[in-house]
Amino acid sequence: MNYKKKTIRDVDLKGKKVLMRCDFNVPTNDEGVITDDSRIRKTLPTIQAVLDQGAAVILCSHKGRPKNGYEEKFSLKVVQARLQELLGVPVDLASDIIGPEAQEKAKALQPGQVLLLENVRFLKGETKNDMDIARAYADLAEVFVNDAFGSCHRAHSSTVGVASYLPAYSGLLVKKELDVMGKALSDPNRPLVLIMGGSKVSDKIGVIDHMLTLADDIIIGGGMSYTFTAAKGGKIGTSLCENESFEYCRELLKKAEEKGVRIHLPVDAVCGDHFAADAEPVVYADGEIPDNMMGMDIGPKTAEAYAEVIRNAGTVIWNGPMGVFEFPAFAEGTKAVAKAMAESEAVTIIGGGDSAAAVEQFGYADKMTHVSTGGGASLEFFAGEELPGVAALLDA
Ligand code: AMP
Repeated sequence: MNYKKKTIRDVDLKGKKVLMRCDFNVPTNDEGVITDDSRIRKTLPTIQAVLDQGAAVILCSHKGRPKNGYEEKFSLKVVQARLQELLGVPVDLASDIIGPEAQEKAKALQPGQVLLLENVRFLKGETKNDMDIARAYADLAEVFVNDAFGSCHRAHSSTVGVASYLPAYSGLLVKKELDVMGKALSDPNRPLVLIMGGSKVSDKIGVIDHMLTLADDIIIGGGMSYTFTAAKGGKIGTSLCENESFEYCRELLKKAEEKGVRIHLPVDAVCGDHFAADAEPVVYADGEIPDNMMGMDIGPKTAEAYAEVIRNAGTVIWNGPMGVFEFPAFAEGTKAVAKAMAESEAVTIIGGGDSAAAVEQFGYADKMTHVSTGGGASLEFFAGEELPGVAALLDA
């Protein structure tokens, strides 16, 4: 995939109307209050840079997965209020997205002013990349900017279709994502270490297969590691296991050996007799978990071995927790990996989703080179797939 794209730094936006796709899909609680505004904050530099160039800005985003048009809980009104506070300028809202109100407000918009369109997924065809909707977005502006990395793996009207009708540039956040993660794949500081965790092998096959052609080391942890242990004939008790992936695991170990990629598997596991925060943690050697016990974290010897690999790395890419980090008694392995990454001199990349939540929770996010804003998008990126929202931008 070509990830060298033209950015807002490569175009004169003075006096232009700029439509900017953002990721304002912020979590809200039952009262509708934003519980984490980091997605809004991460886009502020791009919005500010476009305003500083003397442009008028029309922002758009999805929030959640509305199925049948307008629903209050998916409205961007809360985002409008928070944006206003953070930007320090009034932000108007166009409730009909591409209707007469939006058209009128966009037309009247002056340089330095900001308009927010309501949730783009209130429009039925948005997620089907409906080209009439894309055309209507384009009619509001003269330039398109995409700063929503977390939506770049989706071909929707506001991420892909609209770029057929307007010159399309990347925002600063998308640029950073592409620069850091692109270099990690095309010209990494070596050794390049991939850390894979989370619950299922089957979800991560694309990434593992692609990284097998690039990485020097692949570390496996989390629920998915027990499928490897079982595939090798070890006892895993009631741990997560995907029998249908045994053959894949065996093949992978063989291929890695042929390619000289070092695969690191757990040597011990922290187990509990039931899946709950109050389960008593007990450590067993890998492959020797009793029938009634469930592996819920990598053990201390494994954590130390993995930390050592990380200490010697040039680049570390991490996707998926090492255990059930939501339960404090089973969070130590995930914490140890996060700590080793935070302390390492290597380029450290967190591939969004649960790993991003884990490093936030442990207070290490600021110590990483890059915490991706796109869980699904970064997984597809590391699987070597072309992200349609990136492909739609002008090449540098
Ligand atoms: P994923 O969505 O596949 O990346 O998996 C993330 C989830 O996997 C987290 O919620 C973890 O709690 C869970 N997880 C990690 N390790 C285990 C394990 N050993 N047993 C059960 N769940 C796990």
